[in-house]
Amino acid sequence: MVVIGAGPVGLCLSLALAQEGIRTCLIEALGDDNFLDQIPRAGTNHPATLEMFEPRGIIAPIFHYWDRSEHELVAEFDHAHLKDDTRFPYVLQCERIKIVEEALKMAKAHPDIDVRLETTFTSFEQTADKVIARVTNPAGEDEAIEGRYIVSGEGARSLIRKDLDIEFEGFTYADRTLNIEVAYDFRKHGYAERNYISDPIEWSNLFHWKGPPDRWRVHFPTRPEDDPDELQRPQVLQARLQAFLPKPGDYEICGSNLYTVHQRVAKKFRVGRAILAGDSAHVNSPIGAMGMNSGVHDAFNLAGKLIRIMHNEADDGELDRYERQRRHVAVKHTQAQTMRNKRLLAEQDPAIRKRNNEELRRTAEDPKLARAFLLRSSLIESLREAEQIA
Ligand SMILES: Cc1cc2nc3c(=O)[nH]c(=O)nc-3n(C[C@H](O)[C@H](O)[C@H](O)COP(=O)(O)OP(=O)(O)OC[C@H]3O[C@@H](n4cnc5c(N)ncnc54)[C@H](O)[C@@H]3O)c2cc1C
Repeated sequence: MVVIGAGPVGLCLSLALAQEGIRTCLIEALGDDNFLDQIPRAGTNHPATLEMFEPRGIIAPIFHYWDRSEHELVAEFDHAHLKDDTRFPYVLQCERIKIVEEALKMAKAHPDIDVRLETTFTSFEQTADKVIARVTNPAGEDEAIEGRYIVSGEGARSLIRKDLDIEFEGFTYADRTLNIEVAYDFRKHGYAERNYISDPIEWSNLFHWKGPPDRWRVHFPTRPEDDPDELQRPQVLQARLQAFLPKPGDYEICGSNLYTVHQRVAKKFRVGRAILAGDSAHVNSPIGAMGMNSGVHDAFNLAGKLIRIMHNEADDGELDRYERQRRHVAVKHTQAQTMRNKRLLAEQDPAIRKRNNEELRRTAEDPKLARAFLLRSSLIESLREAEQIA
């Protein structure tokens, strides 16, 4: 098996295959010297993902919806409502980089995984019974690597998807999101570890990211015409945080970055022996924390099918079921929910905002409705639904 990309998806897939004795060659462009220098991304691990792997992090059973313009806590959701649905009635805040750091160590130590760092995948070809991946190795030489299947865990810019001319259907938001990392404990102001904050002018997300020492992330929208350097000038970041929550003295700002948000799903997840998984197959807004989680769910779903195929217990048709199941989840769950989340936070019409807030309040207060809401937000429902797809 050839797996491209040692992100959460490529690593989970390689480790799951190796556990069943299937040899994998895992290709990663980054090397030991820069693997940990990746820009901050995912951090929230939902219960359904914790059923698949168990990182260590901050246990966060509760999340909040706030209305910034009214300065009020609208609704508090408690994962305790899922106590009969999962062993993990909480989300775990653990950064993507910690997960891949740990998983890469495990992959390197596994005799059935050939980890090739500092090796860039460039192209591939496939025949009736094998694939040949072309890579540039650390010495700068071109090399060909053979396998029975090739899986793209390359992330959103997947060359395999482009090589196969698979349409990446959807759109890209014109505005970028500003992420500010702050050393400050927002819990003393009543916030939970995870907070979704609606506002007609400046919605935001506020997350307890890691600690101790405490690190929080605040996300703000920007305008397409804003200058990226100006947006990230220390005084401008400081003013933005002070406007969000005024406090005596400056905030200790530990970092910031801007990211572009896409809502896209590949038209096909598989062509012959080439398969897409994770961000190479679907990308979505981080509001709701579904990208890495659903990518990891792709990896474990695909691993189960490839294991049966490699053990001659099933044929290639299994991979079509992978596409049917996981594409359904990408379109009907992760895309639909993340777009809804963004609309909810950014809604400008006062009457709709009022209605949204009332509905959230009613949902959080009714145990039956709250459980149904949490089954969706934690992706448990998406896995149950996919299981029903033949
Ligand atoms: C600000 C932000 C916050 C987020 N928060 C969350 C969250 O809380 N929860 C959540 O579930 N998701 C979140 N996401 C989304 C999440 O980070 C991604 O969905 C996830 O990282 C995708 O994993 P992946 O393994 O598919 O791809 P990636 O993580 O992008 O990994 C791809 C790997 O492939 C390697 N690679 C790429 N091309 C090549 C090549 N040609 N040759 C060799 N190697 C190659 C890359 O170096 C990289 O290591 C967030 C995203 C952003 C931007």
